[in-house]
Amino acid sequence: MNDVIIIGAGPAGMTAALYAARANLKVVMIERGAPGGQMNNTAEVENYPGFDSILGPELAYKMYENATKFGAENAYGIVKEIKDGGSYKEVITDDKTYKAKTVIIATGCDHRKLGVPGEDDYAGRGVSYCAVCDGAFFRDKKLVVVGGGDSAVEEAIYLTQFAKEVVIIHRRDQLRAQKIIQNRAFANKKISFIWDSVVEEIEGNERVVESVKVKNVKTGEESSVATDGVFIYVGLDPLTQPFESAGILNEHGWIETNDEMETKIPGVFAVGDVREKNLRQITTAVGEGSIAGQNAFTYIENLADIHV
Ligand code: FAD
Ligand code: NAP
Repeated sequence: MNDVIIIGAGPAGMTAALYAARANLKVVMIERGAPGGQMNNTAEVENYPGFDSILGPELAYKMYENATKFGAENAYGIVKEIKDGGSYKEVITDDKTYKAKTVIIATGCDHRKLGVPGEDDYAGRGVSYCAVCDGAFFRDKKLVVVGGGDSAVEEAIYLTQFAKEVVIIHRRDQLRAQKIIQNRAFANKKISFIWDSVVEEIEGNERVVESVKVKNVKTGEESSVATDGVFIYVGLDPLTQPFESAGILNEHGWIETNDEMETKIPGVFAVGDVREKNLRQITTAVGEGSIAGQNAFTYIENLADIHV
């Protein structure tokens, strides 16, 4: 029996692990990929206090070292379901069942797809969701970025180190991204915008992307924009399918918690991007992780009192 199982080793999960392990609990993080979560796909982070600027993967590694130094274990696994047994919980992965007194869900989100013809066909052949992973393949090429939020605009700026030209296609005439990020994009000579427009199809030859079909949502006018690659940043979907049967999701699939990170099930906490909330950041993820890590300790202490 473990004290705490943490599902997902992004910044929220790793901080929960740090706090729970420092409270001397037996902690296992179950992660389906490399620890770090979305930080692994982020070029530069410049809004994490204490660092002027730090590479996402570097921050991820520092957090991992921090959590494991105090004894938290990292286990590979894809969590499929959790079950509430009252004083203990079961976490079922693709090949194993773990038991723990508490569970902290920190599975975050995944990039949303555009859902247009050509998107799946050209995935990995010009269509990408990760500038850090794929940007360098597009040296001196022309690129399209779809979306108007922080991710789209920040990653478009990142891509200008490689590409000769980056066109941001946004469905409105105003960006959603933070003003400081917007201003950098407006000042960047390699970036141009196509406003009030949606990508309807991604087209190419039998090997690679060659263009996108674009429609102006105000005028209905259609055009073709030549491009060597399409980077899609149109928001995030919660990774909560394994928790559907637990009855802790809202109608949009996010997990509802109170300020103590408690879900509807006693002893099951949720932290980070997977929660219903407004601000999805590394700072908010780590803040919530620390609250849940500490509350897992308090919950287990109270369990012990009940059983005396
Ligand atoms: P995540 O980082 O998403 O981690 C969740 C982890 O859970 C992942 O490792 C995943 O593999 C794992 N997981 C999911 N499902 C399962 C399962 N079933 N079984 C096992 N493991 C599972 N924020 C900032 O503050 N500053 C920035 O500069 C910044 N830049 C960003 C740039 C981009 C391109 C993106 C996409 C996001 C950026 N963000 C930034 C947002 C920030 O990365 C997130 O808010 C933060 O990573 C959320 O942390 P998390 O731990 O909740 O989730
Ligand atoms: P987001 O904020 O949800 O923005 C998604 C963008 O895509 C919006 O501009 C939206 O348009 C557009 N969009 C959505 N569906 C679309 C569709 N079907 N077709 C065309 N466009 C579509 O997502 P995000 O930018 O990935 O950011 C996610 C979270 O991570 C946010 O909380 C963000 O603050 C955080 N983040 C922070 C940083 C940072 O702090 N530096 C960097 C990256 C991400 P509308 O604007 O019209 O809705």
